[in-house]
Amino acid sequence: MNQRKITIAIDGFSACGKSTLAKDLAKRLNYVFIDSGAMYRAAALYCLNHQLIQNGVLEKEAINAQLKQMAIHFEVIDQELHIFLNGSDVSDAIRQPEVAGIVSIVAAYKPIREKLVEAQQKMGEKGGIVMDGRDIGSVVFPNAELKLFVTADPEIRVQRRLAEMKAKGILMNRDEVRENLAERDHLDSTREESPLIQVADALVLDNSHLSKEEQLEWVLQKVALLVAN
Ligand code: C5P
Repeated sequence: MNQRKITIAIDGFSACGKSTLAKDLAKRLNYVFIDSGAMYRAAALYCLNHQLIQNGVLEKEAINAQLKQMAIHFEVIDQELHIFLNGSDVSDAIRQPEVAGIVSIVAAYKPIREKLVEAQQKMGEKGGIVMDGRDIGSVVFPNAELKLFVTADPEIRVQRRLAEMKAKGILMNRDEVRENLAERDHLDSTREESPLIQVADALVLDNSHLSKEEQLEWVLQKVALLVAN
């Protein structure tokens, strides 16, 4: 029997394991997985490559003039989601500390958000999608059948991010990671445009002491109840 395909919106602070959860869920449910943070990172990389940000300040006029030329799309290669910026695979480049250092400034700029949100809504038109980010339940898919707000203890998040970067061959200093996460959390939750908020109809998932498998099972149970109704 074909089960109803729902929309799953996952929001939360940086390095809470949202993308891991979203990816695992999509795999189990045979849904599309979209990491919206990767899109903001690709936009930030575009700004870096085209000198559209100087000392943390955006060159807004130049960005407005070039927005149409910034093309971001996803492709699934060997079952992994890859992100492309103007035809180049930038999946690794967007994880560099230089990008993490400015992405929240770029993501706070309304014209950039409008462009990316439009693309995200298009990808989710048919349902059967799991998207993670900061404004997915509040702005991108306000009617999502399942909304999750993921949290985790700040030190556990630092540890996870360090391990993730190490696995990619990028060695980072613990204090540097802690500072970057704290700064992005602050900027993301206090910005004017689509700040990170916990919407009233979101289920809170604190995964500080849950394994990947345990958190997945927890969410799959919620999904099973929803699609059965
Ligand atoms: O999810 P990730 O940590 O890779 O996201 C990078 C940055 O992109 C966030 O810190 C935030 O500034 C921005 N972002 C956003 N809205 C989203 C997803 C990410 O503003 N939906």
